[in-house]
Amino acid sequence: MKCDVRAKAYLFVKPILTSEKDAIEEAVSSAFYAESAGASRISFCPATIHKDTLMELLWKKGSYQPPWIWSVMEIIQRVRSEVKIPIIMDTAGFGSSRGPYNCKKCNSKLKAMIIESNLHQSLPETIECECKSRWKAEVDYSNVTRSTTRLSRKK
Ligand SMILES: [Zn+2]
Repeated sequence: MKCDVRAKAYLFVKPILTSEKDAIEEAVSSAFYAESAGASRISFCPATIHKDTLMELLWKKGSYQPPWIWSVMEIIQRVRSEVKIPIIMDTAGFGSSRGPYNCKKCNSKLKAMIIESNLHQSLPETIECECKSRWKAEVDYSNVTRSTTRLSRKK
């Protein structure tokens, strides 16, 4: 008997004790690995803070933040331009204090663009926002200091 069995890989984005830069690199390399291992689709699940978890404890102490939406955008750009299988980016919690976050000016716009790009499997457009330089600084320096604390974000 021949069965048409397919595998879908769920990839968690930014576990605790992971810098912003490492979170991006791990998500991208895990997607390449999932495709090479035979997955027929990939679903990315960026971190959101749930109650009574170790993640919440670290977040309250200022030692953890969910990923920036800019990081999520970079993951989509890099993965979608390389892999041939469909990829979906889960946008639950985007723009809330406990979820992936950039700034009040661009959160909703980017979330809408990501949902649109999920539907068409297209690359989301690039937009600019003044918060992008803070994200860039965190990606560039988060591994230097070994700190995952986000200095510029309000809870
Ligand atoms: Zn912004």
